[in-house]
Amino acid sequence: MSERRKIGFIGLGIMGSPMAGHLVAAGHAVAGYDLGPAGPEKLKAAGGAVAASVAEAVRDTDIVITMLPQDEQVEQVFTEVLEHAAPGTLYIDFSTITPKTARWTAEQGAKQGLRVLDAPVSGGETGAVNAALSIMVGGSETDFEAATPIFAAVGKTYALVGPNGTGQVVKAANQLVVGGTYALVAEAIVLMENLGADAAKGLDVLAGGLASSRILELKRETMLARNFVPGFRIDLHHKDMGIIQQAARDAEVAIPMGALTAQLIAAARAMGYGSLDHSGLLLVTEALSGRDEAAAAGSAA
Ligand code: NAD
Repeated sequence: MSERRKIGFIGLGIMGSPMAGHLVAAGHAVAGYDLGPAGPEKLKAAGGAVAASVAEAVRDTDIVITMLPQDEQVEQVFTEVLEHAAPGTLYIDFSTITPKTARWTAEQGAKQGLRVLDAPVSGGETGAVNAALSIMVGGSETDFEAATPIFAAVGKTYALVGPNGTGQVVKAANQLVVGGTYALVAEAIVLMENLGADAAKGLDVLAGGLASSRILELKRETMLARNFVPGFRIDLHHKDMGIIQQAARDAEVAIPMGALTAQLIAAARAMGYGSLDHSGLLLVTEALSGRDEAAAAGSAA
């Protein structure tokens, strides 16, 4: 076991809850805080401690971790962390937020002697539960080295990808490829199903050739069955497409495929599919061709 660390963990939701549990299992002393009761109860059952506030979770710790929905919550919680964490504390943010806010945490943290890493993750709930996340880290080499026992406890693949904010840049690139791939797989399904091909066998063949991807591998059966239980919600992917578009504007680069994907995901949300898995993008593709259930009902009337 690595050295026992005192960790304050804020944000015990779908992802944070199993991650905090792995840190307890790795022998660390974890005090967790969340606005809701479910995450703290799970942490307590796993052998962790429950804090009554951010201040209490952060006091007397070596490491502070956040796993929160978006920029707004990270800004709010980090402001409290700044007030209560001791100089030298290592702050690791696993949330997916804008590179800009990640850089802000690093700048504000440095003023108070905090060491800051942005460390967004990929791998979904399954990856969090199985301690198999991929982690893209922005920050200094020294801080990355100090955080490796934490990354090893919750993930399988982790890499320092550049200075503060670049972890979020790589996560944005990840979400760009994932969203775009879902959109194209959805179009492939609609095409095959409407031209008399066996789509299940067709996707098997695609998964064995150059068009293969983890999405085809893991999601082709549920997509064909129209099973869109999340996983990763369209609402969260919509948030991520906003981050991607803002990052592209900041860098003054054009990402036309990303812009199109963002619109398709926005349409999914506008059509009321925000709480479905992001593979539910298939419903938008079908609707664009009038092949969705609602359209079918309309034409039958
Ligand atoms: P979630 O909504 O399940 O969990 C977030 C938790 O933060 C909730 O329990 C909420 O109560 C808590 N919270 C919000 N504001 C708080 C505050 N001010 N103080 C304390 N707790 C607060 O979300 P999630 O699915 O765990 O995602 C967390 C982050 O990880 C997001 O940025 C998401 O984009 C990213 N992510 C999610 C997945 C996934 O598959 N779910 C995969 C990769 C990355």
